Amino acid sequence: MIEAVLFDWGGTLSTHGDWDLLGMWRAAAEVLAPDDPDPVAQALLDAELAWWHDRVRDGDGTGSGSTEDIVRSVAAQTHLPVQQALAAYHGAWEETVDHDPSAEVVLQGCKARGWKTGLLSNTHWPRELHERWLAEAGLLDLLDARVYTSDLGHMKPHPIAFHTLLDAVDVRPENAVFVGDRPRDDIRGAQASGLRAVLLTGRAVEQVEVVPDAELAELAGLLALLDSDLSG
Ligand SMILES: [Mg+2]
Repeated sequence: MIEAVLFDWGGTLSTHGDWDLLGMWRAAAEVLAPDDPDPVAQALLDAELAWWHDRVRDGDGTGSGSTEDIVRSVAAQTHLPVQQALAAYHGAWEETVDHDPSAEVVLQGCKARGWKTGLLSNTHWPRELHERWLAEAGLLDLLDARVYTSDLGHMKPHPIAFHTLLDAVDVRPENAVFVGDRPRDDIRGAQASGLRAVLLTGRAVEQVEVVPDAELAELAGLLALLDSDLSG
């Protein structure tokens, strides 16, 4: 029996863009090192990728961190304008972030069925940024609980990340379905924590062998799926 439907953010509720990650960091680098931003932009991207690889790709989700941690790891001298650099970096993302056109209808449908809804995002961005974007898309109030790993000591696939969200919606894992686009962090992680998991396929993410409880090409098909196979 379904009591809660829990979602990943990037590539699940949001659209999966072909993003220029180095370009995003260049906005911060132009603040930190206006005379020679390119090496700083590269160092920031390298720090972000190392952060991701150590914790999620090659790790079990232990450890987390914030965008500010990443910037400070490169801009170690405290006199550098870190807050300005963060604002520039977040501003660069602002223009690219978009949400799946069916996200609002899907979340409304979950609520209409009496299911709790929740969000669990592996992210170094701050809560305020995510919540503003969700509010602008009309999604914030449709998500009963939102967990951002930048606020936690753990990330998906670690069970602590999933259980933090389950506790927030007060639902047991066997009564929750997780929907995500990353086979290892979302699907294997959710199943290892006792949830059923729906994989959104066709995204440009690392492909790892998993056996999801169901697959979907588009988020728009979720309600029909949950009303059929997964509802029992
Ligand atoms: Mg994702």
